[in-house]
Amino acid sequence: MNAVPVIIIGAGPTGLTAATLLGQYGIECLVLDRWASVYPQPRAVHLDDEIYRVLARLGLAEEFAAISRPGHGLRLLDPDMRPLAEFRRGTAQGRHGYPEANMFDQPALEAILRTNLKRYDSVTFRGDTEVTALTQDPAGRVRVDVTDRITSRQDSLYAEYVLGCDGANSLTRTTIGATMGDLKFEQRWLVVDVDTDADLAEWEGVHQVCDPDRAGTYMRVGTTRYRWEFRLAPGETSDDFGDLERLHALIAPWTKDIPVERLQLVRMAEYTFRAQVADRWRDRRLFLLGDAAHLTPPFIGQGMGAGVRDAMNLAWKLAGALSGALPERVLDTYEIERKPHVRALIRLAKLVGMAMTEGGKVGNLARRVLAPRLHLVPGISAHILNSETPALHRCELVVRPRRRRSLAGRLCPNADLGDGRRFDDVAAGRFAVVTSTDPPPDQRTAVQRRGGVLVVAPSGTELGRWLREGRATAATIRPDGTVLRAGRDLSVLCAALPTLGWDER
Ligand SMILES: Cc1cc2nc3c(=O)[nH]c(=O)nc-3n(C[C@H](O)[C@H](O)[C@H](O)COP(=O)(O)OP(=O)(O)OC[C@H]3O[C@@H](n4cnc5c(N)ncnc54)[C@H](O)[C@@H]3O)c2cc1C
Repeated sequence: MNAVPVIIIGAGPTGLTAATLLGQYGIECLVLDRWASVYPQPRAVHLDDEIYRVLARLGLAEEFAAISRPGHGLRLLDPDMRPLAEFRRGTAQGRHGYPEANMFDQPALEAILRTNLKRYDSVTFRGDTEVTALTQDPAGRVRVDVTDRITSRQDSLYAEYVLGCDGANSLTRTTIGATMGDLKFEQRWLVVDVDTDADLAEWEGVHQVCDPDRAGTYMRVGTTRYRWEFRLAPGETSDDFGDLERLHALIAPWTKDIPVERLQLVRMAEYTFRAQVADRWRDRRLFLLGDAAHLTPPFIGQGMGAGVRDAMNLAWKLAGALSGALPERVLDTYEIERKPHVRALIRLAKLVGMAMTEGGKVGNLARRVLAPRLHLVPGISAHILNSETPALHRCELVVRPRRRRSLAGRLCPNADLGDGRRFDDVAAGRFAVVTSTDPPPDQRTAVQRRGGVLVVAPSGTELGRWLREGRATAATIRPDGTVLRAGRDLSVLCAALPTLGWDER
């Protein structure tokens, strides 16, 4: 039986992103999910401008704009709901060309991702299909055993590569013998989603209640949709808050005198928030992505984003390896690059969680004294609101000196090129060379011959300034927007472009 180049297990945000990107490269792939339709329960409500940029790359910028609203920043409150500090964020476009914080409802996002997938002929979605076993044979294929959940018919499919985007209880993770390394965080929280046509008239940023006895978060996520999260005390369960009447005491500081009858409880669920990273993300032709590879407490709203980043990191490498344009060994860089990045963000989420909840009365006092003074620390507000994530680690595809700061491993801004287009419109998922000086004809030809894109960015332009601040005059950019190498010798940077052979769109 012929093998499909790629089987993706799981049509959550991670699997759908990977499938769309592979579809854009013309790679044939099959997406399997145990359910035929979108998981209807709300989970993620926030994504940053880097993830918005990926959605735009998938062709969904306008659709996402229609289902999201920009976030306005962060307000810290004490246990009596008095403001401790506030960090306001502009809602204008950031360095990636989109607002830096965006509120939305995960099922609505998954719905537009699924509809969009139909644009790609090389991608097939098969729902109601439970993957029951994965076996790698010596011939370099993966056998994927499936059961049709409607007919109970069992079947075996074959793939050259399998992407395990199968969520927190991943069968792929078990199959490759990976275990979740514990980053030592476990808290039980109550998650509440309410719909109402009444206006809560609250500030449209994230409200963080810093209280060791009842930490809480409130945010508006849609025109009529609101989200609360409350830490549960030992022995408490979601049953203790059973309905809106009993919940009311918790949410009343925000809903004030709005009658309970005008509030519609969309969902109330208890979640145990954990911080975990799988010890290995690959075994030969099987890869782990998304929640299958890592779990984070949601305090900085980065769990789903991490899965989307995994997909963005791996898709172009896999497309290149399958077409023969890139050597198979580039696939080793996936885990090398992504694991430390995700670990850094999980540590940050843990830190935010602990700052909100730890320390008892002493913690409350420290927060009361320190928080109102935070804005006096130079740069702290920018730091707290900064959506930029860490640089990727050095490896074959991130070339940078050991100790010196470099642009390599960071994302090239999706800068305005001054002609109505942004960087991504021009690069469009290919390798690019950005240079502040006009290159000689032989270098222009070299870039074109290798299938790359040349972007000339003189010193007054946004990209020109970015290069100068990075102490470079040119940079080679990967198809996922990450800087492969930056420096001053354009010929070296042009030579860093691999020769591309795959068919883009
Ligand atoms: C309360 C809460 C709040 C959150 N807030 C945020 C936030 O604000 N921002 C953010 O970025 N993230 C947030 N997250 C995290 C986010 O929801 C997850 O990280 C994200 O859904 C993970 O996506 P995924 O595609 O990797 O996995 P999932 O969404 O879990 O998808 C996995 C898919 O695999 C399928 N599947 C599994 N096993 C099999 C099998 N054997 N056969 C066939 N199909 C299978 C499942 O049916 C499912 O569709 C939050 C999570 C929670 C719980």
